[in-house]
Amino acid sequence: MLNKIKLKKKFVKFGKKISDIKKIKQEFFENNDKLLKTQIEKGRIYCKQLRRKKCKACGKKINGKKINIRNITYLQCNYCTHLNGIYEDTFKFVNTIYSSKKINYSQKYAEKDRKNYISRVNNIYKPKVDFLKSNLKNFKSIKILDIGTGSGYFVSALKKENIKNSFGIEVSKDQVLYGKKMLRAQKFDENSILHVPFNKLENFLKVYKNYNCASFIGVIEHLQEMEKIVSLVSKNKKCELIFISVPLYSFTSLIESNFPQVFNRHLGGSHTHLFTEKSVKHFFEKLNFIPHSEWWFGQDYNDLFRSMSVMSKKLNNTGTTIILEQFRNLIDDFQIVLDRKKMSSEVHILFKRKK
Ligand SMILES: [Zn+2]
Repeated sequence: MLNKIKLKKKFVKFGKKISDIKKIKQEFFENNDKLLKTQIEKGRIYCKQLRRKKCKACGKKINGKKINIRNITYLQCNYCTHLNGIYEDTFKFVNTIYSSKKINYSQKYAEKDRKNYISRVNNIYKPKVDFLKSNLKNFKSIKILDIGTGSGYFVSALKKENIKNSFGIEVSKDQVLYGKKMLRAQKFDENSILHVPFNKLENFLKVYKNYNCASFIGVIEHLQEMEKIVSLVSKNKKCELIFISVPLYSFTSLIESNFPQVFNRHLGGSHTHLFTEKSVKHFFEKLNFIPHSEWWFGQDYNDLFRSMSVMSKKLNNTGTTIILEQFRNLIDDFQIVLDRKKMSSEVHILFKRKK
């Protein structure tokens, strides 16, 4: 039995401390050249795909102004402002990116040891649960289906808050196997995450409807058939809420465009398009879901700091150390200005079904 969800008053929240991810993203500084090489390789595969004709978010023919990042052209949709790479994320592309041994997607996220897993749950995923919690009068009544759960980080964070009903599905078998191990280590039920292969995902969502909230944390932008998959969720009338986090076309994209020797974490690799506030809200509106609460925070200034650090090192500008260190201490102060203007590199939005 699913209980009706009772929402609190909606709100918009801004900012998050960069120190929460400092250690976790340390490898971006240390392994810049290796990560950049992989990203360029993925870009080469991407450029061999068919031309993308329709905007990923609104479905209209793509027309708009361009930005180039690592030899890939992206056009901003004149209609909904969504930023689209000019090539399709075909099945072939997605399969190569996610399953190739040479460029292994899981490696980036599935840290080997339990300590890193727990720290990721506490610093990145628990705050997401807290955000969700602050929106609900009856949080214990929530039954979440976490789609693209990876190694179950969000599910772990929910279990820590005693949301026993939460359940996650993931297309990558490796990530699920690793996640089950981590769930066992925390004494949680390992069956809380399930491997659903790519070709079975559609069918799974048509059959499994026992949830009142779906979450896509950093997931929908990776879906080859984004609209089809999300609309299957929206068609489940029991589902009252959809909680998402998506990457946005923001200052970070300009930094990535202007620092060609620095690893582009945001636009490149498996990210072939980026949302804007307008395009993401438009996309969900079409599926009959409207924004309830929002949380705006990004990593734009951390990306700028990283880009300048990496380049200073490459240019052997040892004299910049003190200024860079001063800059590092101001990252949160700079970033909150962007966040408050809703100009950050990502956003979390809790959508509710339109009555
Ligand atoms: Zn569009």
